[in-house]
Amino acid sequence: MILLDGKATSARIKAQIAVQVEAMVQVGGKRPHLTAILVGEDGASKTYVANKEKACAAAGFTSEVVRMPASTSEEALLAEVARLNADPDVDGFIVQLPLPKHINENRVIEAIDPRKDVDGFHPENVGRMMLGLPSFISATPFGIVTLLEEYGIETSGKHCVVLGRSNIVGRPIANLLSQKAKAGDCTVTICHSRTKDIAKYTREADIIIAALGVPEFLKGDMVKEGVVVVDVGITRIADSSEKGYHLVGDVAFDEVAPKASYITPVPGGVGPMTIVSLLKNTLKAATSRQS
Ligand code: NAP
Repeated sequence: MILLDGKATSARIKAQIAVQVEAMVQVGGKRPHLTAILVGEDGASKTYVANKEKACAAAGFTSEVVRMPASTSEEALLAEVARLNADPDVDGFIVQLPLPKHINENRVIEAIDPRKDVDGFHPENVGRMMLGLPSFISATPFGIVTLLEEYGIETSGKHCVVLGRSNIVGRPIANLLSQKAKAGDCTVTICHSRTKDIAKYTREADIIIAALGVPEFLKGDMVKEGVVVVDVGITRIADSSEKGYHLVGDVAFDEVAPKASYITPVPGGVGPMTIVSLLKNTLKAATSRQS
């Protein structure tokens, strides 16, 4: 079993990005700038945004967090999005999800200028990605594909089972893996909460992408020998540690790992790859704005 080490892989890519940024600055270019809008006090969202800020600094980007209270109205958030769309110093920005219930997420995402939509959630980017056209690919699917490529995992002709059909993970990764492309050419099955007998599909899978948000859903008896497993799930489980919680993925790692040829850990697998993919998208946005 080989661990798909997202932490080490993302650190390597981040160092390459930092070199590119310094080269841009050397010839008079501006450092890429990423802004994150954080609405409310959700603990996981605060951690994700803090990690994104840290990654920006490590890659030589400038960054900023716009913090808005949970009571922020949709109109006020849309006004902030419009301000960032118009700000020439901002190359890319994200609105950290989830948003408070009274705000319509789709309306906010659709208000983002697609050229600054480095999360790749705007319908224009989603549509272009599905057509295989140049676009910002959303960070988590982009990170998964990059990790498979970095480890030279053959995907062509393989049966990939994606667990979950969300707009931000399940559906885009299923689409990417089915495309006629590098890290593509898979035969893809998507499973969700209405799928009957999920184990029937996972036992036949060469590659499993687990993105459910159900801790340790995928058990050892649900996979075949040699399977490649990518665990996207992150659930905080309360404990008596100093932090007050630990992270658990969607895969029962101790049962599945001995049967797997490759598997991601949680944490240290898909999470860091997601963040470095956001940096790649921001660098791309900055490069196209400066050229
Ligand atoms: P989501 O929007 O809640 O979608 C979950 C999907 O899983 C849905 O399609 C749902 O089916 C399906 N599902 C839930 N319980 C199921 C069950 N018992 N059996 C079969 N299908 C089930 O979640 P998401 O945003 O895609 O995130 C999934 C997980 O990945 C979460 O733990 C999240 O924290 C994590 N995540 C991690 C990263 C990262 O960077 N590592 C990034 C994004 C998300 P229905 O559609 O039928 O409801």
